Amino acid sequence: MKSTINQKFNELFGGHGRMFASAGRVNLIGEHTDYNGGYVFPGAIDCGIMAEIRPNGTSKVRLYSIDFQEQVEFGLNEEDKPAQSWASYVFGVCRETIKRGGKVEGFDAVFAGDVPLGAGLSSSAALESTFAFALNELFGNGFDKFELAKIGQSTEHNYCGVKCGIMDQFASVFGRKGSLIRLNCKTLEYKYFPFDPQGYKVVLVDSCVKHELASSAYNKRRESCERASAAIKKNHPEIDCLSDCKRVWLDEVRGEISQEDFLRAEYVIGEVQRVLDVCDALERGDYETVGELMYQTHFGLSRLYEVSCEELDFLNKLARKCDVTGSRVMGGGFGGCTINLVKDELYGAFIDAVNTQFTQKFGHAPKIYDVVISDGAREIC
Ligand code: ADP
Ligand code: MG
Repeated sequence: MKSTINQKFNELFGGHGRMFASAGRVNLIGEHTDYNGGYVFPGAIDCGIMAEIRPNGTSKVRLYSIDFQEQVEFGLNEEDKPAQSWASYVFGVCRETIKRGGKVEGFDAVFAGDVPLGAGLSSSAALESTFAFALNELFGNGFDKFELAKIGQSTEHNYCGVKCGIMDQFASVFGRKGSLIRLNCKTLEYKYFPFDPQGYKVVLVDSCVKHELASSAYNKRRESCERASAAIKKNHPEIDCLSDCKRVWLDEVRGEISQEDFLRAEYVIGEVQRVLDVCDALERGDYETVGELMYQTHFGLSRLYEVSCEELDFLNKLARKCDVTGSRVMGGGFGGCTINLVKDELYGAFIDAVNTQFTQKFGHAPKIYDVVISDGAREIC
């Protein structure tokens, strides 16, 4: 990828600039916990975006996308937003940097990526953090990493119409090879934990379905969580959100909330604890326990939180049948990927089973992505 970018840059702009990269991400465990003030546990992966960039001494940005084979030119004022949606991610990063008092002048850039688009691996965060990091270095703005992640998040909110949380950009900026990062979504405290599963592969199986339910169900789940935590707060005024609650406190309000709200809250409280348990297990290098907790999360998402679907439950059951160590739906649910922790020696049989049995049942093949936990935003020499 690097030499293709260098060649194109030289062809379009002459000479060379500096090279930057960032990564997509996975979330090992900690699902639907972010808006409940709980933990997520993401890491950057070995696919991402790479860009060659050089200031051009003008007030214009000239941007070439290798993957879309298209060049776009835009100014740096609010009214200069390009029509191409892929370019508006970079425009947004420029604008959000400027809004925070950072300097951005005209530059030339060529970039390419290998994160599958829209598969739940956050290709958009990879794109944002590559440019947020690069502009910070090139124009000497001195923003810290949190600010760079927030520049990416605000880009999604203000220029791409996606009201996302901070996890994707956080993981993409802070990612570190061989580590996952536990992020407390309430306090934004974070801690690295070793993740180097020798003898196992991390495999994503993309069901390639997206059910329509997703956004209305998401809002309903949030409302259930708010009702449950409001009920608990009457007895325990010190809590701010559901992730502060102990399981026994939920039992105290069982008669006051609906059965549905109870199950949703039961899942969230359990999931916050599972993230902590996974972290303990990783410190012991105990990947079998990690895997078992992933299955528990899937059960919770499917039966208590009810955000799974037939395709994802099928993939999860098939993983169990193939003796896969851990498997669960990753992301908001109702489609997308499962994330699986698979022993090397079982990998071939699992992939064969997934390809044949899933395709037979649902009439289309799933997509398989093997990932390795890798570095996030950085300059490449
Ligand atoms: P994801 O879940 O992968 O983040 P999004 O819909 O949020 O999905 O972001 C995908 C969008 O990000 C693409 O449609 C494109 O506009 C932009 N993008 C991601 N990767 C690239 C790339 N390699 N080249 C150009 N644009 C990209
Ligand atoms: Mg995205």
